[in-house]
Amino acid sequence: MTRILDERDLAFHLYEYLDTERLLQRERYAEQSREIFDATLATARRIAEERFAPHLAKGDADEPAFDGTSVTLIAETKPAWDALAEAGFLNAHWDADEGGLQLPQVVHSAAVTWFNAANVATTAYSWLTVGAANLLRTFGTAELKARFLAPMGDGRFAGTMALTEPAQGSALGDIRTIAEPQADGTYRVRGQKMFISGGDQNLTANIVHMVLARIKGAPTGVKGISLFLVPKVLVNADGKLGERNDVALAGLLHKMGWRNTTSTVLSFGEKHGAVGYLLGEAGKGLAHMFQMMNEARINVGLCAAAIAYRGYLLALDYARERAQGRLPSCKDPSTPQVRLIEHADVRRLLLAQKAVAEGALAMSLYGASLAEDQHTHPDRAARETAALLLDILTPVIKSWPSRYGCLANDHAIQVLGGSGYTREYLAEQLYRDQRLNPIHEGAEAIHALDLLGRKAVMQGGAAYKVFRAAVDSTLGEAARFDSTRALGTVFTTPLARLDAVTAQLAALLATDPDRALANASVYLDAFGRIVAAWIWLKQALAAERGLANRPADADFYRGKLQAARYYVTWELPATLPQFDLLAEVNNVPLDMRDGWF
Ligand SMILES: Cc1cc2nc3c(=O)[nH]c(=O)nc-3n(C[C@H](O)[C@H](O)[C@H](O)COP(=O)(O)OP(=O)(O)OC[C@H]3O[C@@H](n4cnc5c(N)ncnc54)[C@H](O)[C@@H]3O)c2cc1C
Repeated sequence: MTRILDERDLAFHLYEYLDTERLLQRERYAEQSREIFDATLATARRIAEERFAPHLAKGDADEPAFDGTSVTLIAETKPAWDALAEAGFLNAHWDADEGGLQLPQVVHSAAVTWFNAANVATTAYSWLTVGAANLLRTFGTAELKARFLAPMGDGRFAGTMALTEPAQGSALGDIRTIAEPQADGTYRVRGQKMFISGGDQNLTANIVHMVLARIKGAPTGVKGISLFLVPKVLVNADGKLGERNDVALAGLLHKMGWRNTTSTVLSFGEKHGAVGYLLGEAGKGLAHMFQMMNEARINVGLCAAAIAYRGYLLALDYARERAQGRLPSCKDPSTPQVRLIEHADVRRLLLAQKAVAEGALAMSLYGASLAEDQHTHPDRAARETAALLLDILTPVIKSWPSRYGCLANDHAIQVLGGSGYTREYLAEQLYRDQRLNPIHEGAEAIHALDLLGRKAVMQGGAAYKVFRAAVDSTLGEAARFDSTRALGTVFTTPLARLDAVTAQLAALLATDPDRALANASVYLDAFGRIVAAWIWLKQALAAERGLANRPADADFYRGKLQAARYYVTWELPATLPQFDLLAEVNNVPLDMRDGWF
């Protein structure tokens, strides 16, 4: 098996670029140590390589089957789920008194990256369960927690997020599923949900669906939406499984990738109404669900990074082995052929993949580290700053790794040439798996609207200002080394243009939101490139420090510096024509008419 992730690089991200060991000063982590973090990563790697990676292709070829009564997954899935759960990866971040290992979020996220790189489709059941259990921890009553939380933490029950309906995807404010209050305080839920990942499977005794529905008579729009816990099987007060709830699998969807994750159409309440329990406040369902959605968005960034990473390593190994052709300067056919990696254009394709894979991992783990600071930083002002920064970066962490992850996996296919297009190699499956990421957890255009229409302008631009201050602080540090100082100068014009365009579009938003937001996806892309370049500058700074302290690792650090140089000099300036379009509020797509197509 080729490598699925680079252990050395993961350690760089955690300890050199993010300085995760600083968390050991916090009271919550007094019992933790670097050794525990490393052992956690090593366990994740072992289980990922032994239990998840070997069935990646099989899970793609043998899709889950539904015989009208039950769903069957390939046999390898259950032992993988059990191993992950038994090792504590469903509740590792919970407090010790909840039965967890009290690990920092960012260490948990880094560990999960091994599973995502090994087999994203099998791993998806776990992160859905983690997100659903976290919702229950935050919004559940003591009674609900007593019934459902422990089995979700140890893998007896799994979780889902059930938002999308056949007629409502991006526009969640219009969902139609109805919940009718009952005298006993429960609700009867009726409606159909579509695309629900893990909505049925044969891995766990029960499935806990987190369902968005409208309480009968509630107002239209977002204010009428509430959050419900709807189990597949009811659980009695003593914790034992009771009757089957009125939740039925209407069918499985057949997908381009992630095939070993079931994609289900679920019917709630076709007979007498599915029993549901309100979580949190009525009418605040979407706001509550944002906790799970925001966690999932960072996780999509991590998934995209992991899939891009695996494709990159596959292409790198292939390019180092296969000999083909000679350099342009060599005219002698009797000389041996060179390896692919010696061709400048193959190196370009590899460097572009390295920039995306390691950049996306750094960006997503930075998001996980901000989530950590938001909750556990001892200083209140620092918690608030982390929360604002995470808020504005979340649409970027979801979107940049997803969009450019697709490009990276496309490049991996290209490096393998004809072999990349065959099913004998994993490059084509990785590309298909990656293609989901710009769609689920909010399609890319929705994140673009969120970034420009809300996050960049909210609270008088408070989050934007925090973001800009963070970038300026890194640029200040960059002056310490020749290499990073040179890269820092490339930021001057794109940042000035970003500031100007953001102010201009913020003003236009108030008077003409349709025009202001018409090119939001261009804004998201330009913003994403700036964030990615900034993240690479932070990595370059860590690499310079590493070069000084660990000369034996010079090749590793020089590789980081070259990838930073690539991203900042090749990709960051590509924002300038994007800012031209944004500044002139170019109307070409907006003015195109249906009848002209
Ligand atoms: C494999 C898979 C797994 C999924 N898992 C889950 C899950 O577990 N739970 C769950 O609830 N959902 C899940 N989904 C659903 C997913 O979140 C939706 O597919 C996604 O939100 C888009 O909704 P839609 O498919 O209805 O597309 P639509 O909303 O119809 O959008 C179609 C296109 O139009 C664009 N568009 C829509 N509205 C706007 C707008 N206002 N401005 C500009 N462009 C717009 C979108 O960007 C998109 O490109 C999953 C989907 C897939 C494919």
